[in-house]
Amino acid sequence: MRKQIVAGNWKMNNDYVDSELFVSKLLKELKHSKAEVIIAPPFTSLLASSNSVKGSRVIVAAQNMHFAENGAYTGEISAAMLQSVGVKTVILGHSERRAYFNETDALLAKKVDTALAHNMRAIFCFGEELEDRKSGNEETIVEGQIKNALFHLPASAWEHIVLAYEPVWAIGTGETASPQQAQDMHAFIRQTIANQYSADLAAEVSILYGGSVKPANAKEIFSKTDVDGGLIGGAALDVEQFTAIINAF
Ligand code: PEP
Repeated sequence: MRKQIVAGNWKMNNDYVDSELFVSKLLKELKHSKAEVIIAPPFTSLLASSNSVKGSRVIVAAQNMHFAENGAYTGEISAAMLQSVGVKTVILGHSERRAYFNETDALLAKKVDTALAHNMRAIFCFGEELEDRKSGNEETIVEGQIKNALFHLPASAWEHIVLAYEPVWAIGTGETASPQQAQDMHAFIRQTIANQYSADLAAEVSILYGGSVKPANAKEIFSKTDVDGGLIGGAALDVEQFTAIINAF
């Protein structure tokens, strides 16, 4: 079901103690808002965070997971392990995973399948590089990323997929896609899904924008018809900024 979502990706920030402090402050400051609130702490804080948010409307997500059920994958974490600490949502395909850990669309397709096989929700990230946008190739790139990783899924799987369009040139750079650029791409993404599946299915998919969303620009970006919320990096590390972005809805 399409809904408004604000998700904070902490990346490799906040140790166990910082995470506990953050969550207790967030729960105090969170006012009623229409948006679903997600935080994605590092693995070492997932158990404590998911215990701390119990009974609240904050959802804890993982930033990554392996596609295999278990086995000889030193340093990796499986879907079942995430579920054993109360985590049912996972971010997959973040541009940093793609760039620094060589995650390809083919690998991500396997991760998505594993998440869905475990009844988890996947927040699937994708987006073009600066040179793609400069050369006017952004739609081709984005269409390819979605197609390669997600179009093998049956229509019924899409209720467990959230999309996060994150132009790489806007992540952590302070440079944001303009609200119109975000809207144009989100409309293109929705149309691409409609072409492959149906307009009804496409209308139900939540598509988040990510890339230097801050309290100052969140309201305008979120006001666009096809933008259903944001995946937030830097500003999600500060409770005041994160709650201001949530309250932008
Ligand atoms: C991100 O890493 O997903 C992100 C959007 O980061 P930032 O908000 O810092 O650009």
